[in-house]
Amino acid sequence: MKFKLPNGQEAIFTSEITVEPIQHMGGDHMVVAAARVSVSGTEAVSFADPSKVEESAGLINYLMKQRHGTPFEHGGITFFVNAPIFVWREWHRHRVGFSYNEESGRYKQLEPKFWIPASTRKMVPTENYKAARPTFQAGTPEEHVWIVNDIIDSCSDAYTRYQERLDRGYAKEVARVTLPLNIFSSCWVTCNPRSLMAYLSLRTHDAAAQFVSYPQAEIEEAARIVEKIFKEYWPITYAAFVKNGRVGP
Ligand SMILES: Cc1cc2nc3c(=O)[nH]c(=O)nc-3n(C[C@H](O)[C@H](O)[C@H](O)COP(=O)(O)OP(=O)(O)OC[C@H]3O[C@@H](n4cnc5c(N)ncnc54)[C@H](O)[C@@H]3O)c2cc1C
Repeated sequence: MKFKLPNGQEAIFTSEITVEPIQHMGGDHMVVAAARVSVSGTEAVSFADPSKVEESAGLINYLMKQRHGTPFEHGGITFFVNAPIFVWREWHRHRVGFSYNEESGRYKQLEPKFWIPASTRKMVPTENYKAARPTFQAGTPEEHVWIVNDIIDSCSDAYTRYQERLDRGYAKEVARVTLPLNIFSSCWVTCNPRSLMAYLSLRTHDAAAQFVSYPQAEIEEAARIVEKIFKEYWPITYAAFVKNGRVGP
C-alpha cells in the first residue's frame, strides 16, 4: 500500500518479506563425496557427480540421523533478502556458517518502506498463552484496521522527522535513531546447508519436529521461503532433514 507522508513523500506499507536466491554451489552429491573420502581416499572424487547421488540417499539419511554434520558444509547458497529490522534482529543471531552484508543507515538514506500485519496475521494472545509457547488468534477486522492505522501514523511521524533532520544537515547516523523496528532493510545472506538446517529447525514451527520451536511469524515466513529453495537444490538432504525430525545435523 502506498501512502503520502505529511511532507509529500511516498511511503510503502507492506506485509511482504522477499527472499531471492542469487547463487548456489554444490548439492546432495557433495554431501556424499565429503562423507565417502573417509573410506575411499582419492576415489572420493568419483562421488562428486550429481548423476550418481540417488544410490546414496541411505548414506545421507544415516549422516543426518547420526548428526554427522560436517559433510553438509560443502555447499553454499546466497540469498538477497528485504525484511523489516525486527526480523534482522532475530536472523543475525545465527552466527555460525552465516555471512551477512547489510545496507547501512550511516551511509545511505533508509527508504520509507514499513511492515504492517496482513489481515490474516494472528496477533491476539490466546487464553492459554505462555511466553515460551506463544499462541495467537485472529483479531476482529476492526482490530486489524486499528493497528494498521496506528502503525502508519507512527511511521509517518518518525520518517517525517528523520527527513527533517537530514534536510537540516544532521548526519544520517544521528537522524535515524528514532526510526521504527518495522522499517525494511536489505541484506545479503550466505550460508551452507548445515547452517541453513540449524536455522530452519529454530525458525519454523512444526508440531511433528523433534524439538518444536515457536518462532515469530515473520521470520518463519522468510524461513519457509528459504526452505522451499533449499528443498529444490538439496532434495535428498532436505528429505532426510524432515524424516529425522528437522534437527540440524
Ligand atoms: C523461538 C526463539 C526464541 C528466542 N528468544 C530469545 C530471547 O528471548 N533472547 C535472546 O537473546 N535470544 C533469543 N533467541 C535467539 C537464540 O538464543 C539464538 O541466539 C538463535 O536461535 C541462534 O541460535 P544458535 O546460537 O544456535 O545459532 P548460531 O549462532 O548459528 O550457532 C550454531 C551452533 O554453534 C554452536 N555455538 C555457536 N556459538 C557458540 C558459543 N559461543 N559457544 C558454544 N557453542 C556455540 C552451538 O552449538 C550453536 O547451536 C530465540 C530464538 C528462538 C528460535
